[in-house]
Amino acid sequence: MNDAPLGTTGPLDATQPPDRTERIPTGETADAPTPQDEIVPDAKDWTWVLERPCPDCGFVATDVASGQIAGMVLALTAPWPDLLERADVRTRPAPHVWSVLEYGCHVRDVCQVFETRVELMLDGDEPAFDNWDQDAAARAGQYERQDPASVAAELGSAADRLARAFLRVPDDSWVRGGVRSNGSRFTVLTLGRYLLHDLRHHLHDVDAAST
Ligand SMILES: [Zn+2]
Repeated sequence: MNDAPLGTTGPLDATQPPDRTERIPTGETADAPTPQDEIVPDAKDWTWVLERPCPDCGFVATDVASGQIAGMVLALTAPWPDLLERADVRTRPAPHVWSVLEYGCHVRDVCQVFETRVELMLDGDEPAFDNWDQDAAARAGQYERQDPASVAAELGSAADRLARAFLRVPDDSWVRGGVRSNGSRFTVLTLGRYLLHDLRHHLHDVDAAST
């Protein structure tokens, strides 16, 4: 629980839908924001997206079969090269909302983190995932200062590696488990579904449909 002005009620509160622009946490703990950074860490647990449609972006995780995940990773990351060519790529729409460039950096890093997690689940027995603080990663990586064209290339490569990781999952291994630092347990299948929602939701965050 934090005092973030964004999304503190969350999608579970039907009387107050989530802020359209809020970011998806990957579930790990987050540091308090620095005075220089008005992005407010969001520590909500989004695992509910595995059970019901997201009212914000419309993604329905339960509809996704294991064999669809690799292709959907590529499809849901395909818009980013064009998005990262926007003239306003570095502009935050509001002080507390990431720019397209910052979201692009985040999506690139999400792909890398989830590739690692898939590999861990295939290689180990119920591995515990390292904590990943997405806000700390954004600050440490100075997302706002990165080169959009480089980010586009890196994101494409990361998505390709991630898709290949899912393509390598044997049929009998989709049920293998792993545990996030906050205690949430995933299977390879539910990790894939969770990831796909994240990718879809971030396209919604940057209004990709309008491009
Ligand atoms: Zn969503």
